[in-house]
Amino acid sequence: MQENKVLPQPHLLSWVQETSGQPVSRCYQCYKCTGGCPVASFMDILPHQIVRCLHLGLEDELLKSKSIWLCASCHTCKARCPNGIDIASINDVLKAKVISRGLVPASSTIATFHREFLASVEKYGRAHELGLVMAYKWKTRDYWKDLSLGVKMFRKGKFRLWPDRIQNKEQLRSIFKRARGEA
Ligand code: SF4
Ligand code: SF4
Repeated sequence: MQENKVLPQPHLLSWVQETSGQPVSRCYQCYKCTGGCPVASFMDILPHQIVRCLHLGLEDELLKSKSIWLCASCHTCKARCPNGIDIASINDVLKAKVISRGLVPASSTIATFHREFLASVEKYGRAHELGLVMAYKWKTRDYWKDLSLGVKMFRKGKFRLWPDRIQNKEQLRSIFKRARGEA
């Protein structure tokens, strides 16, 4: 797979700063981001270490890391960081780099969830939860996990049978095309 035309940059740190809009070089490793991150205990590279890896140019380590996929985009790190660094935005551009290079994501199931979520939004304008769950289960062949939870949610009306659709889908499609570098 070829690199997306907006992605390749000679230096990882400057590329991430420019693409994510985050002042990565201002980080002085106070660990406040890691201290508040709700999923830090599951990560192989902790949030403050992600930033340090960028300083050191450790691209392979970052692109192979599960952490960039595990990030829940809760933005707690940004709220706690004295420099306002949003590690979720950094993780987003690193994930895009993994995909654009055709590398295998360190967490293939989370990557599948991301893909199916975006496919649902692109198709209907918003996520259709039931369709999303079914597509995810089909792709991961993980049919039984959380089944009882799914049934409970369905009974409580949390899953709509049919998707809601937005108007002006052409505008939405052009956003997706631009994001893919096709327009
Ligand atoms: S909270 Fe901000 S300054 Fe502190 S380690 Fe995390 S990113 Fe760096
Ligand atoms: S946005 Fe990601 S890295 Fe930051 S605190 Fe939330 S889960 Fe952790």
